[in-house]
Amino acid sequence: MRYMSTRGERNIGISQAILNGIARDGGLFVPESFPEVFSRTEKLNEIKYIDLAMIIMENFIDEFTKEELRECINGAYGSRFSTDEIVPLVEKKGMYFMELFHGETLAFKDVALSILPQFMKKIREKNEIEDRIVILTATSGDTGKAALEGFKNLEGIEVIVFYPESGVSEIQKRQMITQRGENVCVVGLKGNFDHAQKGVKSLMGNEDLKRKMRENRMVFSSANSINIGRLIPQIVYYFKAYLELLRLGDIRKGERINFVVPTGNFGNILAGYYAGRMGLPINRLICASNDNNVLYDFFKDGIYDIRREFKVTSSPSMDILVSSNLERLLFEICSRDHNRVAELMRRLREDGVYKLRYEEFNNLELFYGGYANEVAVEKNINRVFEDEGYLMDTHTAVAYSVYNEYMNNTGDRSKTVILSTASPFKFPKSVARGLKLYEEVDDFELVEKLAEYTGVEIPQGLRELQNQEIRHERSCDKDDIEEELMKILGL
Ligand SMILES: *Cc1c(COP(=O)(O)O)cnc(C)c1O
Repeated sequence: MRYMSTRGERNIGISQAILNGIARDGGLFVPESFPEVFSRTEKLNEIKYIDLAMIIMENFIDEFTKEELRECINGAYGSRFSTDEIVPLVEKKGMYFMELFHGETLAFKDVALSILPQFMKKIREKNEIEDRIVILTATSGDTGKAALEGFKNLEGIEVIVFYPESGVSEIQKRQMITQRGENVCVVGLKGNFDHAQKGVKSLMGNEDLKRKMRENRMVFSSANSINIGRLIPQIVYYFKAYLELLRLGDIRKGERINFVVPTGNFGNILAGYYAGRMGLPINRLICASNDNNVLYDFFKDGIYDIRREFKVTSSPSMDILVSSNLERLLFEICSRDHNRVAELMRRLREDGVYKLRYEEFNNLELFYGGYANEVAVEKNINRVFEDEGYLMDTHTAVAYSVYNEYMNNTGDRSKTVILSTASPFKFPKSVARGLKLYEEVDDFELVEKLAEYTGVEIPQGLRELQNQEIRHERSCDKDDIEEELMKILGL
């Protein structure tokens, strides 16, 4: 498999694509073609996550031997998740929640970020790379912690995470600033996620800085969701959900189903789109946004317009205006015309807006865009708990709310899987507010009370958090990221 950039560069291997993160022309790496894999997986008698991961990923990670790939997969999914199913499917009244939050940091990012570091370590060894790899990451809360956990103490690799100080939950912040590991650094940013992401992107494209790094035997890499090495592992669970429904007899062979995806940077839902291109029978991919509803407008009118107020919501991992991975979808709907993609991206950068042509817009049929405001999120957290005994976190509640509206608007009764992306205990304040409980206590007390009230067990990773030592107190202004990085790297 060769990879190409959405903006023109061609003939790149997977190792280079993963290490570089972003193409030299500023574009994102995409596979040159999509292998048909579904018919092969359909024949499996038993669906073990690890085996399925192997079948899907060996098509993409073809510079590793099978043994090497299996080692990576075992390293990621062998014991780091609290269940062997990795992503259990929970049925509630004809709806399915696929729980992607049983990894170490309690959000779906763990699925990809437990394996990406394994890939990088292998690539470094196989290619005898001696330079230190510096992973630079901007996070809206969940990526940062998942990256820190995934990369901690890996030899020859260093992780530096920038998070918006006032844009993440108390639990998320505590998870990050208590991080252990010899090779990790956490910096609070006075700004929002888009500032952090823009800052990191510009650092990684800064030729002066990169030269200085080379002189000091360091290279940048990224663990953000634009890295193709994060996208590929996420394709697996779409297959897993479908095959499980098939095995349960809840769907017929070939029946098309919907997936509802709470969306921020467009990585998760894009993996679903890739799964579809690999033969998985999908009826609709329902893209759920919160009040930062840029994508909702995009799917409605074909206009992507970020000239609007950035809103801080109760689903911070989706508080994003520029959804980076959308560029990969643009590439497909523009018939893989990299000049057109480069032009649209330039317009976004210069004018803050772009508009699709009629025929491009028509290629978006598989998608439905919706958004849910804060009132709907709270109401539905309560309703689903009262009616179905299922406790949703705020991100999942955005997805659920949009799905409700989708059913009302379309009458579509296709079987539907809602991607449940975080543990409700990760965002206890908002979840408690939805349930109309105890608002005036801190997150840690709330976690206890939520567990008592709902009977849902507190995840292991959260129990100890409050008593852990704070190890990271760095903070910087959004305009001083470069300076801060130079200090950290000693340049
Ligand atoms: C990151 C994240 C999302 C958004 O996923 P994208 O791939 O960025 O679209 C949704 N929910 C949670 C809990 C997340 O951590």
